[in-house]
Amino acid sequence: MSRNLPVNADRIAEDIEALADITEPGHPWTRRAFSPLFLRGRDYIEARMKAAGLQTRIDAAGNLIGRRPGTKPGSGTIMLGSHSDTVPDGGRFDGIAGVVAALEVARALSERNIALDHDLEIIDFLAEEVSIFGVSCIGSRGMTGQLPEAWLSRSSDGRDLAEAIAEVGGRPGVLLQENRPDIAGFLELHIEQGPVLENGKTDIGVVTAIAGITRIEITVEGRADHAGTTPMDSRADALVAAAQLVVDIRDAAVERARRPGHFAATVGEFRIEPNAANVVPSKVVLLIDARAEIRNDMDAFCEWLDAHVIKLAISQGVSIRSPARVSDNFPTPCDPGLLKTLERACDSVGATHRRMASGAGHDTAWIAKVAPAAMIFVPCKEGRSHSADEWAENDDIALGAAVLFEAVREMDRNLNEEKA
Ligand SMILES: [Zn+2]
Repeated sequence: MSRNLPVNADRIAEDIEALADITEPGHPWTRRAFSPLFLRGRDYIEARMKAAGLQTRIDAAGNLIGRRPGTKPGSGTIMLGSHSDTVPDGGRFDGIAGVVAALEVARALSERNIALDHDLEIIDFLAEEVSIFGVSCIGSRGMTGQLPEAWLSRSSDGRDLAEAIAEVGGRPGVLLQENRPDIAGFLELHIEQGPVLENGKTDIGVVTAIAGITRIEITVEGRADHAGTTPMDSRADALVAAAQLVVDIRDAAVERARRPGHFAATVGEFRIEPNAANVVPSKVVLLIDARAEIRNDMDAFCEWLDAHVIKLAISQGVSIRSPARVSDNFPTPCDPGLLKTLERACDSVGATHRRMASGAGHDTAWIAKVAPAAMIFVPCKEGRSHSADEWAENDDIALGAAVLFEAVREMDRNLNEEKA
């Protein structure tokens, strides 16, 4: 790369490769939260934090933090970070790129003898991915007082989540009181996990919002009959109705996704009864995962769905229970001021950029609920992620780290002005 960046791309590559080596043999790349390998990965990150002159600690929620004190105590903390845990057979970059880029920003600042007024913290959030405890974003929720108390008693592998947090060095006893009113601003770099940047030959995605996720369960009931003897015109086939519904949901989502604001809907779970070759299907339960950047879009989709299943039930001669929202999270907008800061940072390092929403959940969503927060995406090959084929070019990650570097410097100046 010919660009003269304020960060060192080789150091980024070295860290990403070193962490890639810490994986379950035969399952590249697997370093699941709470596993011994996860702790080995963290030992590496902590050593690198220390080598960069950062003061390291584990907070109550089990996050690994490297701190660089500012010159004006009490100004607040600028935070950068992501997660180092992986899904099983996951990639080398999801989360890891963001931790390493954040670490590189701290190194680059020190190397250039740049003092910040604010404290700077580099974070490796605990268990962003769904862990063996079946929940996600434990560290970012925990750091900001948003971890549901009931989660602490979820158990797996002979221990509960509270014990597992203690094993990684957290303090579950005081975790629920944890919050960080000192966060002046938070930024996360992450691979896009989609194809938009690569297809558009764009360097950086400036994330406008993390989409809200609503999961909706629908039960279609027909009548079990003999598959050989029941005439085709006198059946109540739950599967045929459900199959039509899946296509209708796809069509409605395609239509909605053409308008401004990210929208996606997927039927990812589908259960059929009795699931036997010679029986007309009597019952199907399906689960929709719908994601919207704009809350009104989600409400409109749910209203359409409620009305549509009534019509579909009549036309297909089955009964369909009214769709039930089994979980419902609102979209989380990123901080408008930080979006502009990130765009200026892109311009100053010569990176092309576009605004886009995140269809995936991220730690940023939890920090954004309590403090100004934003994130950037860097391209990944063919949009592949949560797969061993996940790939991001090191130069693209380095360019993203340079954007963080410039953004942090502007935040350090602006956040003071806001207070003055
Ligand atoms: Zn991630």
